[in-house]
Amino acid sequence: MKESHTRSSSSAHHRWMEICLGLAENALPEDVPVGAILLYEGEIIAQACNWRERDQNPVGHAEISVLQEASKKLGRWRLTNTTLVVTLEPCPMCASAILQARVAQVVFGAYDPLMGACGSKYHLFNDARAKTRITGGVLEGPCAKLLRDFFRGTGGQLSFDKREKLSWDLF
Ligand SMILES: [Zn+2]
Repeated sequence: MKESHTRSSSSAHHRWMEICLGLAENALPEDVPVGAILLYEGEIIAQACNWRERDQNPVGHAEISVLQEASKKLGRWRLTNTTLVVTLEPCPMCASAILQARVAQVVFGAYDPLMGACGSKYHLFNDARAKTRITGGVLEGPCAKLLRDFFRGTGGQLSFDKREKLSWDLF
């Protein structure tokens, strides 16, 4: 079985993640702060934050939004030669969409011990047919802090799953 991801990152990864951290803050105060961008030929062609609560959309994760926006812009569903950067390890729903879209590379920040699909909880990218390269833990500290502060600061007011909150309290 091949490794599902690597931790080695570059200065470009850090610059992209800083942008995603800024986007994640747009989700506040009602939504879990997660931000994502999608790059094609070095350019950001889509950006989003998690607006599941605001839009009452069960698939409103930042990754799904950037995949949809990028597909519209490029006029195709195959997003080969693209890089998706996101502040939190993708969940199984987003990981499946990323694989379906043939995204070449994923760079994520914080690990998600409860729902992470890049090896923390599930291993969706381990399949030999999965070509997506994964880099995890980029600016992990700031990405995790944003989530931790959110769950500690708004406890009890939101309809998010209680186990999700607990996992971040323990982090
Ligand atoms: Zn997701």
